[in-house]
Amino acid sequence: MGVLRKIHDAIRSKALGCEELTRSVIDQIAQKNSEVNAFIDVFEARAIQMAKAQDEALANGAELPVGAGIPVGIKDNMCIDGELVTCASNILKGYRSPYTSTAVGQIMAAGFIPVGRTNMDEFAMGSSNEHSVYGPVSNPWNKSLVSGGSSGGSAAAVAAGLVPLTLGSDTGGSIRQPASFCGVVGLKPTYGRVSRYGLVAFASSLDQIGPFAQYVDDAALILESLCGFDPYDSTSENRSVEPFSANLAVDSLKGKRIGVPNQLMSQTIAPDVRESISEALKRFESLGASIDYFDFDLVDEALATYYIIAPAEVSSNLSRFDGVRYGNRNTAANSLKEMIQTTRQQGFGDEVKRRIILGTYVLSSGYYDAYYGKAQKVRAVVSETYANLFKSYDFICSPTAPTTAFEKGANLNDPMQMYLSDIATIPVNLAGLPAMSFPCGLDSSGAPIGCQLVGGWFKERELLQAAHAFERAMEFQPKYSFEGVL
Ligand code: GLN
Repeated sequence: MGVLRKIHDAIRSKALGCEELTRSVIDQIAQKNSEVNAFIDVFEARAIQMAKAQDEALANGAELPVGAGIPVGIKDNMCIDGELVTCASNILKGYRSPYTSTAVGQIMAAGFIPVGRTNMDEFAMGSSNEHSVYGPVSNPWNKSLVSGGSSGGSAAAVAAGLVPLTLGSDTGGSIRQPASFCGVVGLKPTYGRVSRYGLVAFASSLDQIGPFAQYVDDAALILESLCGFDPYDSTSENRSVEPFSANLAVDSLKGKRIGVPNQLMSQTIAPDVRESISEALKRFESLGASIDYFDFDLVDEALATYYIIAPAEVSSNLSRFDGVRYGNRNTAANSLKEMIQTTRQQGFGDEVKRRIILGTYVLSSGYYDAYYGKAQKVRAVVSETYANLFKSYDFICSPTAPTTAFEKGANLNDPMQMYLSDIATIPVNLAGLPAMSFPCGLDSSGAPIGCQLVGGWFKERELLQAAHAFERAMEFQPKYSFEGVL
C-alpha cells in the first residue's frame, strides 16, 4: 500500500494533523537535504498556512480531499504565484512567478501542499542533474552517483524519503530516467493529458508534467488531480479523467500482450540491466501476460530526430529570455544588442547554449528542409510505427535507461554519451505516448534498475494496473521511506 492512504487514515483518525505533518517534512528537509541537494527552496509560509487551513476545515467537519495534507515537491520549472521559479538557471535567478500553473493549481485544489522547489538540469536539458546552478543532485542510493535528470531533484527527494510525492516534467525521459536511477516510480502521461500552462517551455510539442512516488497507487492518486482539460493549453485534450486509483489491483495480467524491442535488449544495454529486465519479463509472464520480441529499427533515428526537434523548439522558446521580457538583464551593456548578447551569454549554461545553437542551425533557411523538415517526417513514422505496434500489443517493455546511475562527472564532457542515456525513453515522447518507469532490481553494485512500460495513447489506467501488479509481486525495498516521518 502506498503512503497516501496511510497518511489519510492517520489524519482521519486525528492521530496526525496536517500542520504537524508539514512541519515534520520541513524539518526533515532542513536536516537531510544537504546530503542529496534535491530541494533548492522550501515554501514554508505557504505550506504551513495551507496545512493550518486544512486542519481547520477538517475540525469543522469538512470532507477530506484526496490530497489533504500531502506534501509535494515541485520541479523548479512550474509556476506558483509569488514563489521563485528559475529552471535552475542564472538567467531566471530571483524570478517570481506571476501566476500559478494549471497542474500545480489543480493539485492544490485537491488538498496537496507544495512544500518546495526541486533541483533540475538547467531548463530541463540534461540526464544527470549536473547542469544546475544549484549544483548536482546526489543519488540517495550512493552519493557518488548522479540522480539522473532532468528532474533529478524530484526523483531524489522521493528516493531519500523527504516527501512522498513530487512533480517533474518529461520531454525526452526526464521523469522516467531519474526515476529509474533513483529506484522510484515515475510516470509520463500521454501528451495533452496534463496542462502545460505555467510549465516553463523547453520543447512544447514534447513536454509533459507527471508524478514521482515510491508506490504506484500514490502516483495514481495524484495523477487524477493532475489530468484534465485546460483551455489555456491549446494542446490539452478534452476527455474525461478516469479514477486511476480505483480498481488498481487487478488479479492477473492474463490476456495482456507485452512487446519487447530487440534493439533495447541488445549488447548496448548494460548486462545487469538486461538481466534484470529479462527477470521482470518473466515476472510479467507469471502474472499472466504474454511476451513477444520485435524489431524496432527506429531507435537510433528517434534519438537523432529528438535532437533536431527539441533544440529547434528550444531556440524559439528560449528567445524570450533576452533581458527585456523575462529574467535578469546585464545593465552594464552599452547598446540593446550588446545587452541581449551579454545577458544571454552570462545567463545560460553551456548545455543550454549548445541546444540553442543546434536549434538555430537546423531551423536556418538553408538547412530547414534537410534537418527540421526531415525530422518531422521521421517523427510521424515513429508515431505510425507505435500505432501499428499497439494493434498487436497492450504494452511495450524495455529498460528505462541503458545503464544504472553513473558516477558524477563521468559523462559531463561527453554530450553524446549523455544523450544516449535517453535512447529508450525518447521515442515515446516523439509519439506522445504514456509511459512509466518502476524499480525492478539492483545491479551488482547496488544501484537501482528501472523497467519501462509504455502504453497506448491515454492508457494510463492500464499502465498503472500493470505496474501495480508488478510492484506487488516484486516487493522492491526502497532505501529510505517516507513512512518514518509519520
Ligand atoms: N535528457 C533529455 C534532454 O536532455 C530529456 C530531457 C527532458 O526530458 N526534459 O533533452
